[in-house]
Amino acid sequence: MEKRKVLLLKFGELFLKGKNKRDFEKLLMNNIKSKLKGHDFSLEYTSGRIILENYDEFEESILIEKLRTVFGLIGIAKAVEIDGDYENIKNYVSSISIDGTFRVSAKRADKRFPMTSVELERNLGEVVLNSNKNAKVDLHTPSVILYVEVRFNGKCYIYHENIKCLGGLPLGSGGEALLLLSGGIDSPVAGYLMAKRGLKLQAVHFHSYPYTSEQAKEKVIELARELSSYVDEIKLHIVSFTKIQEQIHMNCDAEYMITIMRRIMMRIAEKICERENLGAIITGESLGQVASQTMQSINVTNSVVSLPVFRPLISFDKEEIMDIAKSIGTYETSILPYEDCCTVFLPKYPVIKPTIKRAEHLERFLNIELLVSEAINSEEVMVIKN
Ligand code: ATP
Ligand code: MG
Repeated sequence: MEKRKVLLLKFGELFLKGKNKRDFEKLLMNNIKSKLKGHDFSLEYTSGRIILENYDEFEESILIEKLRTVFGLIGIAKAVEIDGDYENIKNYVSSISIDGTFRVSAKRADKRFPMTSVELERNLGEVVLNSNKNAKVDLHTPSVILYVEVRFNGKCYIYHENIKCLGGLPLGSGGEALLLLSGGIDSPVAGYLMAKRGLKLQAVHFHSYPYTSEQAKEKVIELARELSSYVDEIKLHIVSFTKIQEQIHMNCDAEYMITIMRRIMMRIAEKICERENLGAIITGESLGQVASQTMQSINVTNSVVSLPVFRPLISFDKEEIMDIAKSIGTYETSILPYEDCCTVFLPKYPVIKPTIKRAEHLERFLNIELLVSEAINSEEVMVIKN
């Protein structure tokens, strides 16, 4: 009997129809290939599954580790591939040894196959019982689930373990956006969550050197590097905010300092988006977390840009954000103690309910256009790859 080991890759949510669906699947296959660059393998597509085959078994666990960071995949199974006729499946299943409780979970994707999924489950359950003295069927809490999938390519895949992946949509399927990346806990998580929905990322970081240290910048570069394990690469724009902060500090009400800083950050971000052809801005804001993240503050910050601003953490508690930061591997870097530019000249009592009118009034004391273009001229760009 011909059999070989493969990795069966499952993808979710690609319920788009027709050409879009094929484009998504093609993109997912390309993303897998680029993630596994340098390894020997081949990919085969069969409706509903991607088969990864002809790989070096010694590399299996490395391949799986890498595949687990590919957005769009929901599961991986180490499967045995055999010819998909019933006699053959029966023979193979009868050679499997199972001790204890089990059930068979069958999927007949290929409707030309002469049994329904339920019939296949029942018949193969029988086969297992006949060939294993100590096996017992338990439909609800079995210790082993034997998965049997008959696919369109005429093959059958058999496995007993499903390795969970991240889900989401293939990277790049939604376009590309600009993440406002501070050194904190929230913004890397925000970037991760949007990348998971198919957006490629570039990032901008504002520093206030020499008020902020060189280490603060290194920390952000490290965060971008950690994020890049999900998005392949991040073009990071590092922009000096020093003069802007000094000017605001000298010319504007202290309580509006952060409001105006954030409005200028947004304006610079939008300029970078225009130049780099990016379709949205991403921030790590969470409603009510601090004074600058009240509904009124967000409105005043938002009003200076016309691109959509994605705030995936808007409804998250800090605890929930920290959990994700830990699971994606950015938490330890985020909690390093180097200060962010937002903490320089921080007012004691920032306004909680700012108004657009007042912000616009205070901004008349600044030459915003000049400050924005000078900041952009200070830009340092680096491409960070994992
Ligand atoms: P974070 O944990 O992401 O730093 P935070 O809770 O400290 O967030 P703020 O400092 O108010 O909140 O920042 C809100 C958002 O503004 C951040 O999530 C980030 O997207 C953006 N931001 C703040 N500071 C910077 C910076 N220095 N450079 C780039 N973006 C920044
Ligand atoms: Mg911060």
